[in-house]
Amino acid sequence: MDTTVFSDIDWNREGKQIGSLRLPYSPDDDAWGVIPFPAASIRHGDGPVVVVSGAVHGDEYEGPMVIAELMRQIRSEQVCGQLILLPALNAPAMRAGRRTSPIDHLNLNRVFPGDHGGAPTEQIAGYVAEHIFARADYYLDLHAGGRTLFIEPSAHVVLADGMDAALARSNAELAEVFGVPITVQTSNMGDYRTSAGYASHKGIPTLAAEMGMGGWVTGDSVGATRDATRRVLKHTGVLPDIDTVPGQATRWTRIDGANAYLFAPFDGYFERRFMLGESIEAGQLAGLMHQLSRPALEPEPVYFQSSGTLYAHGLVGHVRAGQNLAVLVQDVARP
Ligand SMILES: [Zn+2]
Repeated sequence: MDTTVFSDIDWNREGKQIGSLRLPYSPDDDAWGVIPFPAASIRHGDGPVVVVSGAVHGDEYEGPMVIAELMRQIRSEQVCGQLILLPALNAPAMRAGRRTSPIDHLNLNRVFPGDHGGAPTEQIAGYVAEHIFARADYYLDLHAGGRTLFIEPSAHVVLADGMDAALARSNAELAEVFGVPITVQTSNMGDYRTSAGYASHKGIPTLAAEMGMGGWVTGDSVGATRDATRRVLKHTGVLPDIDTVPGQATRWTRIDGANAYLFAPFDGYFERRFMLGESIEAGQLAGLMHQLSRPALEPEPVYFQSSGTLYAHGLVGHVRAGQNLAVLVQDVARP
């Protein structure tokens, strides 16, 4: 089965087109409707094809804002090659302000390469994999922590063992150019179902980024996302003359195995005893788990299993068994 998704944009046409991807959707109150996903193609002359996506998760707003700004501001004469802008890759989730789609409850970042005959989120992933990534020379995927996560502003690159050396070098260069304080090197645990993991697996130089948190948006978080995105677009050559401001030297880190993740030991209420960015020692107290339905029980201490820098943590006090409480990163040498 070929793609179910269609578009009013002709990806092969020169010039600037603003339109949408359209996913057929026939719910209870609509026989022949579509779900529109805003999109743009700005194509001019020879050069690389660069894809920029936002709102792969619907509660992360800096990426969609910066991509929308590019859609408004960039003129085709400024482009060498093609800029493909996808500001709301999970549009139903973005309209609902949720991480996952309210239609099929799927996480777009766990369904690549998608399925043309699957649920709506799988169908959009299938279109992007076959009809967008198939053209791409570079891919930039802009995330944030969303409503439930605090996270250090950072770049994420796939640098797996056995990876093609030229691709690894291109990915590392993108992170250096992006120029935010932390870069997290990931092997994706062999899981290529994220959009960035899939694109990287297909040999496309790829960078993902986490640029905000808590489901909020600030002038600082949007500004940092704008500046870093423009540096990468200039570096790829697709916008050779765009104005940029210098980035920062990035600190290379990685999430070092399963012990870098701290999980809730049982259903309960977590009293956090650490801060984002704090330096952590293995064995340090992370917090206390309270059982408020059994108030006679003493709260149970939870300890860190490894050392590192506190990179991300959940925001919600009421947690399920197995819910992530914290993520540590460890410094590594520049690749
Ligand atoms: Zn995300």
